[in-house]
Amino acid sequence: MTTLRLYNTLTRTKEDFGPIDPNNVRMYVCGPTVYDYAHIGNARPAIVFDVLFRLLRHIYGAEHVTYVRNITDIDDKINARALERRGGRNVPVLDVVRELTEQTYGVYRDDVTALGCLPPSAMPRATENIAPMIAMTQALIAGGHAYEAAGHVLFDVSSKPDYGKLSRRSVDDMIAGARVDVAPYKKNPMDFVLWKPSDANTPGWDSPWGRGRPGWHLECSAMIQSTFAGTDTIDIHGGGIDLVFPHHENEIAQSESAHHAHPLAKVWMHNGFLNVEGEKMSKSLGNFVTINELLKDWPGDVLRFNMLRSHYRQPMDWTVAGMRESWNTLERWYVEAGAGVGSGTISQSFLAALSDDLNTPQAIAELHKAGPDDLASGLMLLGFQPQPERLASKANVDADAITALIEARLAARKAKDFKESDRIRDELLAQGIILKDGPTGTTWEVKK
Ligand code: AMP
Ligand code: ZN
Repeated sequence: MTTLRLYNTLTRTKEDFGPIDPNNVRMYVCGPTVYDYAHIGNARPAIVFDVLFRLLRHIYGAEHVTYVRNITDIDDKINARALERRGGRNVPVLDVVRELTEQTYGVYRDDVTALGCLPPSAMPRATENIAPMIAMTQALIAGGHAYEAAGHVLFDVSSKPDYGKLSRRSVDDMIAGARVDVAPYKKNPMDFVLWKPSDANTPGWDSPWGRGRPGWHLECSAMIQSTFAGTDTIDIHGGGIDLVFPHHENEIAQSESAHHAHPLAKVWMHNGFLNVEGEKMSKSLGNFVTINELLKDWPGDVLRFNMLRSHYRQPMDWTVAGMRESWNTLERWYVEAGAGVGSGTISQSFLAALSDDLNTPQAIAELHKAGPDDLASGLMLLGFQPQPERLASKANVDADAITALIEARLAARKAKDFKESDRIRDELLAQGIILKDGPTGTTWEVKK
């Protein structure tokens, strides 16, 4: 049996993984803030931790792994969007927040499903976990780790001598390097908000400190506590590298202080950042790519494969050339794997690569050497369904609709309405569908 080894950001080393309870391996990953379409960078943690989820299920049995990915539906970016969206309507702002977050989360769920991600075991929402957030804040105040000031409740970093252990920064470094919010009511500039007051135009909940809302870090600490009830320490906590500080550092400070210094997680895992065509993604550079847009042109399997060609901890450059190569490889493999019977056994070298801190580039290199059976099993463990038709059409192309348009075009041609038949051809081309007229009729393929 291959040992699973995972890089732990907390210790900065690759460690042998041993679950606290092999009958219930617990993993939490910070999920999306649902105010807008998710970009291809947000797809990275979704795919990476889905592969880890699948590997853990393979090793420990599907029923013995709990993967929780939360939905951040309380956030000031959400509140700002909700206010715009409400316009002149006379409805409570929380109703508009619901509308916005439901819709955005629906798109996210469809996006990551198209990328081959399994639904996590639980997807708690911040708005449905207000009571545990208030309870944790009360416990922190009672334990001398938090204080109330000017309607806010703040975490007192001086009460936690090892504050900074995940990001390995001293409080002085943090003050120098961070855009900390220096508010007059803070005892220490690094103290961070657990609870803050809400005005009439901002979602708020009644609390011992007045009507207000939780800080982002508290949301995750409380959702971990309520979703994994009965344990203080989970096995794996994950997210993108940008979350190490302050988000995860502050989750640790809160949860450990509320739980007798018991660690929040044994292993902290972080995926590296994704750039697009060599540049940081940004709306102003015009290279901001949403998953939803990409899925209009590329099969979800191709996007997933392209993501896994890089090791999750390395920075990655997302390119059209990479997606093309990925498509070509998968096209070949899906045909080859179809010749296999899918024996279900996983080759040792493939499993060893994957178990070595999720070395997907090495695992893919092993698949290049594999026969049809091992290829099929390996692809399936990585979350692919090797069926050529999944690549023949785009992930969200409706083949029936294309066939109907081809028939309408044929009818137009028969009626010598060439303007209409050309219009239909152009309409399909705009969707990336190329028509080929041959002696036996018209076929179509997806433009690459
Ligand atoms: P957010 O919705 O902004 O809270 O982000 C959701 C997840 O996506 C977090 O785990 C982030 O760390 C991760 N993330 C955001 N941008 C990128 C990027 N460019 N590359 C990789 N991961 C990212
Ligand atoms: Zn979090």
